Amino acid sequence: MDDALVDGGGEGQPRDDRLREEVVHELKKVIDPDLKKDIVTLGFIKNLKIDFTKGAVSFTLELTTPACPVKDQFVQVCTSLLEALEWVTAGSVQIDITSQKASSSRQQPGSEGIPPGLRQVSFIIAVASCKGGVGKSTVAVNLAYTLQHMKAKVGIIDADVYGPSLSYLIPLQCDGVRGTPDGLMVPLEHRGVKLMSYGFIKPGDYAALRGPLASGMVRQMITGTAWGELDYLVIDLPPGTGDIHMTVAQSVRVHGAVIVTTPQQLSLVDVEKGLRVFDQLKIPTLMVVENMSYFTCGTCHTRHEIFQRPPHTIARLQDEYGIDRTHWCRLPIDQRLTVPQEATHTQQRREGDDDAYEPLECPPATFPFVLTVDSHDPVWESFRQIAETVARGLSASRFADNRPRVRMTDDMMMEVTIPCASPPPPAPPPAAVSNGPAVADNGTSGEGQGATNGHVGALEASELMSGVAGEDVLLVPARTVRLACRCAECIDEFTGKAKLQPWRVPRDVVADRINPTGNYAVTIHWSDGHESIMAYAVLERVARKHADQQRPKGD
Ligand SMILES: [Zn+2]
Ligand SMILES: [Zn+2]
Repeated sequence: MDDALVDGGGEGQPRDDRLREEVVHELKKVIDPDLKKDIVTLGFIKNLKIDFTKGAVSFTLELTTPACPVKDQFVQVCTSLLEALEWVTAGSVQIDITSQKASSSRQQPGSEGIPPGLRQVSFIIAVASCKGGVGKSTVAVNLAYTLQHMKAKVGIIDADVYGPSLSYLIPLQCDGVRGTPDGLMVPLEHRGVKLMSYGFIKPGDYAALRGPLASGMVRQMITGTAWGELDYLVIDLPPGTGDIHMTVAQSVRVHGAVIVTTPQQLSLVDVEKGLRVFDQLKIPTLMVVENMSYFTCGTCHTRHEIFQRPPHTIARLQDEYGIDRTHWCRLPIDQRLTVPQEATHTQQRREGDDDAYEPLECPPATFPFVLTVDSHDPVWESFRQIAETVARGLSASRFADNRPRVRMTDDMMMEVTIPCASPPPPAPPPAAVSNGPAVADNGTSGEGQGATNGHVGALEASELMSGVAGEDVLLVPARTVRLACRCAECIDEFTGKAKLQPWRVPRDVVADRINPTGNYAVTIHWSDGHESIMAYAVLERVARKHADQQRPKGD
């Protein structure tokens, strides 16, 4: 048991120990939907205190991120479960919420190599697009402010030193960037979000940097800024997949990526390119944002789909990269999100050579969209979805052991073990309940029961979170997995068509070695000499599909 659980008020009396056990037993039923483990095992419960005479329970719930989108449900479910205990008085369960400090989570082997300015930064998110003019910076900035709105500490860095747009999107009165005594740059701050951009360092001077100089400046802005304590640092990468991306990946550990695109065929092909680049850099892609995707008409108030969205490309992204509907968000064409500057910068750079480049004089855009609307706005809803998906993906990635495990069995099958949470077991019959620990009736049990009944609806609403953490064990023939390889040798990179001819794969192919790769994939060395890097999501899908096919019809 976690040491922290034994803190506070435990007098060692048998009764208190028993009540404590009861509380822990109830809390173990609460499962984190992303980490697939109960909150006691995850070490989220700190400072548990019990006051039997008042029928009161209090504890601190230490979540992985202050932007945890399900923290209200956690409180609701914990409260319902504890108030159902006979001796707990309704309204006497007190839960304080904190989140793990960046500094403590960083205290792990290898943290010596982290630049001083970044030591207290928990998660680094890269926002990328293969093309300019897709509204990438708008998405990055609004994502940062949405995370901040969700109570996280956030910084954003504009890594597009060729055409910085942060200083347009957040036009601050600024006469250069100050330094700290130990040689770090002090980020600007706006509405609680820390900002760094070349546009703040050298306003108007965008033509001076190119090639290695530009990469050096980006590295300096990321590693040489005194970010302080941050939950999230958002890096707005320049369009394309060039040197700056490599520089960023080599300078810091990026925990997740967001790819921004538009619905045209070409841009979706670009998404695949982006996914592959991040795959190679071992950075999981958490979200694809399809910007300028539809138009909500001011006259008839309906959605107008003005682009042909290629269904095959979208299906392929799901099959091969695990980018399903939850990791895909569409934003409308919305005047309020339009930022002409970014498009113009890119246009200009593509057409002329570097020397012909002239910074544009643009009127500053309004402050970030998410700060200007109320919470009923559908576009704000979309940004909340993006921020929540990103926050959940990052939290889950911190806990390595919620990944599936893969091994070969003796009979040419691969065994894929997937952590999951199953629904709670059926409630024990009333007789079993009265067999519980005998507790003196102090007159509160009646209230406790009443409260439970009052919470039935709430419990149902959060059903997903109350259950039993477990595992799904799936068996799939090794050859089926081998045939599902989507590497460049097996799948044509440009057409997406299969290049691998199944008859070439031996019937008795097996995996000789299986090694975890990054936190989202395994590398499989096959007995036919081939090597596959396979995302857990893909592996899981292949295994589940096989299991479904094995199941008799009508089951
Ligand atoms: Zn219309
Ligand atoms: Zn392959």
